[in-house]
Amino acid sequence: MIQTTAGLAILPLVGTSSSAIAADAPKLDPNDAQAKALSYVHDASTVKSPARTSDKQICRTCIQYTADAKADWGPCNIFPGKGVAAKGWCAAYAPKPGA
Ligand code: SF4
Repeated sequence: MIQTTAGLAILPLVGTSSSAIAADAPKLDPNDAQAKALSYVHDASTVKSPARTSDKQICRTCIQYTADAKADWGPCNIFPGKGVAAKGWCAAYAPKPGA
């Protein structure tokens, strides 16, 4: 463990993958202030055009989603420390290359 000058402890994440972190992370609450600001939902099919322009737009195909393709929940760079639904969506959606 590393101690900062402010007295805060920083725990090393040696041997911990981002998927492992997400598996243990609490699910993102759609009512969370940042989630609401980005119109996050667990079920992308509830989002109507023009916000969501394709059925292919789900967290699983988003460049910010870092879980493996088979996971139902995973980490998102926009919501650190929380798990988002693979079938979710938010206004920060950006397709992975080739998606
Ligand atoms: Fe899902 Fe992408 Fe929004 Fe993260 S940024 S919640 S992965 S659509």
